[in-house]
Amino acid sequence: MSLEGYRGRLLELLRSAGASVGDELVVSTASGDVEGTLMPRYQLSDQLHLVLKLKNGYNVGMALGRISGVRVKGKGREPSFSPPPRPRATAGLPKVLILGTGGTIASRVDYRTGGVKAALSSEELYHLVPELSGIADISTEATMNIYSENMTAEHWSALARRAGDALKEGFDGIVVTHGTDTMHYTSAALSFALDSPPVPVVLVGSQRSSDRPSSDSATNLIGAVTFAARAPVSGVFVVMHAGPGDDELAIHAGVRVRKLHTSRRDAFRSVNGAPAGTMKDGEMRLDQSLPPRRSGAAGLSVIPGFDGRASLLKVYPGFHSSLIGDLVRGGCRGIVLEGTGLGHAPSSSYADIADAAKSGVFVGMSSQCMNGSVRMTVYDTGRDLAKLGVVPLGDMLSEVALVKLMWLLGQGYDSPKVADMMTKNLRGELRERRPL
Ligand code: ASP
Repeated sequence: MSLEGYRGRLLELLRSAGASVGDELVVSTASGDVEGTLMPRYQLSDQLHLVLKLKNGYNVGMALGRISGVRVKGKGREPSFSPPPRPRATAGLPKVLILGTGGTIASRVDYRTGGVKAALSSEELYHLVPELSGIADISTEATMNIYSENMTAEHWSALARRAGDALKEGFDGIVVTHGTDTMHYTSAALSFALDSPPVPVVLVGSQRSSDRPSSDSATNLIGAVTFAARAPVSGVFVVMHAGPGDDELAIHAGVRVRKLHTSRRDAFRSVNGAPAGTMKDGEMRLDQSLPPRRSGAAGLSVIPGFDGRASLLKVYPGFHSSLIGDLVRGGCRGIVLEGTGLGHAPSSSYADIADAAKSGVFVGMSSQCMNGSVRMTVYDTGRDLAKLGVVPLGDMLSEVALVKLMWLLGQGYDSPKVADMMTKNLRGELRERRPL
């Protein structure tokens, strides 16, 4: 019996009525009976309201104190899904591996409850977008099935290992289907862990699940597979809608991209520079400086270790810098401070920052402005921080800096080596300042 999210007395009441999420219930109150489908609750929602979806589609919360009885009128059925037969692949097409990790692109609406469920495997995605069979000879593998907010450094390592093996197995391109929330962290992780991939490794997600009319998943997936199969370039990229329409996709470098909108289909944008390319009606316009596609895996290094003991802290007025000491005592080995403006933190935080740096913890500075570059030489406050041992991280995005730090720590480097590598451009994540 699933009573997702219900706790305490409400859980007992529903249990004793034999109810499950998705069942048709009659809930009695002093002012009459209400009929509807029992909805799940979020883990963190209050314990005092039962939620019913009424016939007219509205959800109502019913206060526990007003409920005098619950009766199950009809049992809900688990939604079932049988994919159509797999289309026949055309011979001689490039071989592309789709690695599924989860997220909205691999989910659909549960129409009993209206919630989005992670339910589609990458195999099923292929069935659902039969156009793919005319673009590439596709293999699919579900490496995990999680929403991307649940990704960890271990997941990045596992994914990098599998992608690395697949590159050595000779695939012509790899597509990673991924939740959008943290897709830019994973694209950075794969960028560092896969040094000189011979072919494109493309991350793709969708903002609306596959079975909604406004879904972007088919367009994005077709674009990602087309790019992985045919682009004359190599590297780690994110492919998503370029605008609100379905006609143009943007190709973003894995270390230069960020999710900048909660819901729009063109949520992903290259920051601090133009995207690496665009794709319209299958025609690609690509940055000429991208490394070319190669055949064979010679030159590829797979360096998958990530150490999750690093943190990203946003600086704000009245910054509670004692957090830094808490992190250090908890075993944190590196901190990226996302400073204000050119890379600043309040002087009240200096002692905590200095203590961390003295204890051998790497402390780097990125900027919450996102555009532009950290410059800690302009104001004396920046110079003070540099004297305390804070390392300026140029125009590297904060999320990319965190991932890079976890990766360098995962290689077992000591603090000076980490500091040295954090200030070197390895994968396009750090650009030299250019005079205007
Ligand atoms: N929370 C979801 C995730 O990141 C959203 C999405 O897939 O787009 O996995």
